Amino acid sequence: MGELTKPTMIRELLGRKNIKLTRRLGQHFLVDGNLLSIMIKAADLRPEDMVLEVGAGIGTLTEELIRLAGKVWAVEMDDRLFSLLRDYLDEPPNLILIHGDAMKLNFSEIIPPEEPLKVISNLPYNIATPLLLKLLLELPGLTSLVVTVQKELADRYLSPPGSKSYGATTVKLNYYCEIRRIIQLPPSVFLPPPKIHSVMLKLEKRKETPVRVDDPEEFFRFIDAAFAQRRKTLSNSLSSLYPSINGKEIARIMEELGWNPSERAERLNLDDFAKLYGGIRGLL
Ligand code: SAM
Repeated sequence: MGELTKPTMIRELLGRKNIKLTRRLGQHFLVDGNLLSIMIKAADLRPEDMVLEVGAGIGTLTEELIRLAGKVWAVEMDDRLFSLLRDYLDEPPNLILIHGDAMKLNFSEIIPPEEPLKVISNLPYNIATPLLLKLLLELPGLTSLVVTVQKELADRYLSPPGSKSYGATTVKLNYYCEIRRIIQLPPSVFLPPPKIHSVMLKLEKRKETPVRVDDPEEFFRFIDAAFAQRRKTLSNSLSSLYPSINGKEIARIMEELGWNPSERAERLNLDDFAKLYGGIRGLL
């Protein structure tokens, strides 16, 4: 297992096609076989599983996924890496290679959206958060995601209300998933080493969302507005999203829910946001 975690092998493969890696696309490849095993184990793969990998790179994870899962979709945007992947992996019958920008793909047209699916990926750093939210929205059948992200993002996803890194992203991801830190990865486990530390996370999709909302996308716009201007009070921030509602009405709802109208978004938890959202929607 893990031939592709050998730096000599990676250099040889890249050299064959004269590929120079670009930081812009987060091209850092895992060169630690133990961490690869930890990642695979965390995903708890079964022979019948359908799996999606975003950012297949040279195929380090892909190779293992093909061996262990029933069907694998692997997305890679870089033309040169895509061609290398196709040659090296030799397109086995349970692999669907997709050449494209994951942020522009409509995943529900590519993968049966209601079918159980696992995601396992060393994510490109610059798109990690919007990509996770996009996948959760477009693929309701998703059951779990094992991903590595920049440490700073992992801290944000896991932070409690009131802490500095708590924000709209924390609330949105925790609406969908229970998030667990698996292990921290130093720069040295990637080739070339990035400037930052990474963290492997497991996000398990909740069977039922902890709060009831009719339309998650609309709820998320509300969350974004609540956190948009951190220096403003919550009732002021929300007034700009709902111009038809008087700011005093929003303040009244907050008081009824036991909150001071001058409270700031970062002190409210998911449940508080859902109650406030329900109260405001009642006025529309
Ligand atoms: N899977 C490999 C591994 O585990 O070592 C490589 C992971 S590397 C961190 C991220 C990969 O994502 C790179 O190969 C990069 O070219 C690709 N990538 C970056 N942005 C992308 C995008 N928007 N859509 C699809 N792939 C992307």
